[in-house]
Amino acid sequence: MPMSQPTITNAALAARDLSVVWHPCTQMKDHEHLPMIPIRRGEGVWLEDFEGKRYLDAISSWWVNLFGHCNPDINAALVEQLGTLEHTLLAGFTHPAAIELAERLVSVTPEGLEKVFFADNGSSAIEVALKMSFHYWLNRNKPGKTKFITLENSYHGETLGALAVGNVELYRDTYGPLLMETIRVPSPDCYLREQGESCADYSRRAFVHMEQALERHADEVCAVIVEPLVQCAGSMRMYDPVYLDLLREACDRYNVHLIADEIAVGFGRTGTLFACEQADISPDFMCLSKGLTGGYLPLSTVLTRASIYEAFYQDYEKLSAFLHSHSYTGNALACRAALATLDIFSNNNVLENNHALAAHMASATEDFREHPHVAEVRQTGMILAIELVKDKPGRVPYAWQERRGLEVYRHGLENCVLLRPLGNVVYFMPPYVISKDEIDTMVRVARDGIQKAVAD
Ligand SMILES: *Cc1c(COP(=O)(O)O)cnc(C)c1O
Repeated sequence: MPMSQPTITNAALAARDLSVVWHPCTQMKDHEHLPMIPIRRGEGVWLEDFEGKRYLDAISSWWVNLFGHCNPDINAALVEQLGTLEHTLLAGFTHPAAIELAERLVSVTPEGLEKVFFADNGSSAIEVALKMSFHYWLNRNKPGKTKFITLENSYHGETLGALAVGNVELYRDTYGPLLMETIRVPSPDCYLREQGESCADYSRRAFVHMEQALERHADEVCAVIVEPLVQCAGSMRMYDPVYLDLLREACDRYNVHLIADEIAVGFGRTGTLFACEQADISPDFMCLSKGLTGGYLPLSTVLTRASIYEAFYQDYEKLSAFLHSHSYTGNALACRAALATLDIFSNNNVLENNHALAAHMASATEDFREHPHVAEVRQTGMILAIELVKDKPGRVPYAWQERRGLEVYRHGLENCVLLRPLGNVVYFMPPYVISKDEIDTMVRVARDGIQKAVAD
């Protein structure tokens, strides 16, 4: 008789975890009352714990997963790559996966982006774009350009440079003394529009502040950095493409770069492959990560123009090269996962199918609009957010200390859906392999959770 396997319980793993692992973006003391959930396996939109309980991953594991966990196509591509080459440095050396990925990214991104610089996570891509923009102006004999313009409520990552150009207070303020100064401009965020005003009108009106900032500071500004269409970490606040149109035109007029941080919104989240397409613009730098590898491996890229690349292309003695690197830059496995992800986009009608899924999310959440504690239901493509408020007519938010969103999170876990509200905003950003039935489940659990969270 074979000995029976000792059962590994959630509780045993959670206890081991909590004795050694310091988790990201977490007040660890919360785990005195919140469960830590060890995951044994994943399949499609589902994550399964060690006791067989499954969780629908409604937030794509922090917005990275596109085509499900353990996707057979991406798995197969990785297995093949694994038998060939796992990694090589990318200075002086290259490999087919990096070359092919760079070629494919150039062909699918907006026109004019022709050079691809690799890094290994989103924040690093932001650091690269900021440094490249500054360095470009330096190489072009404009050393006075040292500042960046950012939008209120923006988020670009957690490393010091990325944090400096972000404006979500919760993440930024503690480290304020360490951060470079930026020029901060009011956001085109349509939640702030007047009653009866269209989103486009509000976004257009908000542009006045950007125009003023550029007029006043263009000489000292390297670039404007934005998250096109959706400020994701900033509570999924959304704005109209017209803002990007106006911004592109103004950046050209004032001789300032435009950095599009499509780390969260890229790869179909907003309905188009890239959010910039909805304004028909091409930025000077485009940062990609998260969905780039389908949620498999850390990788990021910064795409830029040939004219920017050329400003660094010189005899070595001029010391104008971009001497920036990360050890895992252009990792072969990560590049292969990205190629398999792009294959799924080109071999299936992903964006078209997503339109149907997005429409289903819209109709499934229709009734939320009438809820006495829902100020707004907003949607851009595959991102749908529900803003909870204490007082609907006055749009008075719940005090953050009440942690209403945490109540929704807890209810979700008890009922097999991984929701992870941002403060008072409950949102869905599911993998594209979700079914309509699964959307219904996700929405039903969120509805009950919200009901519970606003009950007292
Ligand atoms: C997640 C995110 C980043 C940072 O990416 P990391 O890989 O987490 O460092 C930057 N910008 C945006 C818009 C993001 O959503």
